[in-house]
Amino acid sequence: MHAQLEELRGRALAELDGVVTEEALQAFRVKYLGKKGELTAVMKGVGSLPPEERPRLGQVVNSIRDLLDERLEAAQIEIRNRVTAERLQSERLDVSLPGRQYPRGTKHPVTLVIEEVSEIFAGLGFQVAEGPEVELDYYNFEALNFPKDHPARDMQDTFFVENNLLLRTHTSPVQIRTMLKHAPPVRVIAPGTVYRCDSDATHSPMFHQIEGFMVDKRITFADLKGILTIFVTQYFGKGIGVRLRPSFFPFTEPSAEVDIACVICKGKGCRVCKQSGWLEILGAGMVDPEVFRHVQYDPESVTGFAFGMGIERIAMLKYGISDMRLLFENDLRFLRQF
Ligand SMILES: [Zn+2]
Repeated sequence: MHAQLEELRGRALAELDGVVTEEALQAFRVKYLGKKGELTAVMKGVGSLPPEERPRLGQVVNSIRDLLDERLEAAQIEIRNRVTAERLQSERLDVSLPGRQYPRGTKHPVTLVIEEVSEIFAGLGFQVAEGPEVELDYYNFEALNFPKDHPARDMQDTFFVENNLLLRTHTSPVQIRTMLKHAPPVRVIAPGTVYRCDSDATHSPMFHQIEGFMVDKRITFADLKGILTIFVTQYFGKGIGVRLRPSFFPFTEPSAEVDIACVICKGKGCRVCKQSGWLEILGAGMVDPEVFRHVQYDPESVTGFAFGMGIERIAMLKYGISDMRLLFENDLRFLRQF
């Protein structure tokens, strides 16, 4: 029996040397130390020996089991260390490699103009207001002093949705909606999308405007000119000349078109300004008393001015863009420049 145990010990140790995986290690444990393992079988045989031999043999079996346990544990640690080392090697990362580049978008020039212009007027105490793009005839025309058969309606080629419902042709309806909600004084700008049935190099059926208006006691034409001059100076730069020419809009009286000295040729005359040295940038005027009556403001106690400018036109002047359609073609090579 002693010899049998010696043989078992030698065989087990030799076999353990060849074990290199976790699975083989587990099989080894079952084969020798498991419930039906070889060493366990010997252990059970101890009971059939004469009583005086049992303790000594029991000791030998225990020492073999302890030895195998100890070697098994060492082998297991070695296997795990090797597997970890192999994985680290195969999954090795070069942390000095440059990161993956994600493309970054840029702001559309129309957005840029809206943000910059809004910021300048916010600095002058104006608040931003918005209104619906599908608008009632009443707000778009009637309340702005365009009666039903007024020829000025033809100036704005309107997309009608149905009777009395249309795509707003300008941001001016926001004036009406704001004044109906708030008593004077008001000082508001309203950027937004507008629609007209018109399309060529300088017109698009969908474009953007910023409306501005200010109503209070004793607002005069001088306030209008002063505010617009501050705006032009801040947006286009110091020393840019501003001039007002008489014009007509149904909802302002008197009305003016506002020109700035050509930012391209500085007033000398070029193709962009058609050799005039001036560029029209917006329409403006004093709010017509008729408009005030529509919103229950008393034209005897308050006065105000209003102005509206085309965002695309401002963007074209600011960034030297020659064709408005470039702004809507979504060519990334063009848009990335901003
Ligand atoms: Zn010019």
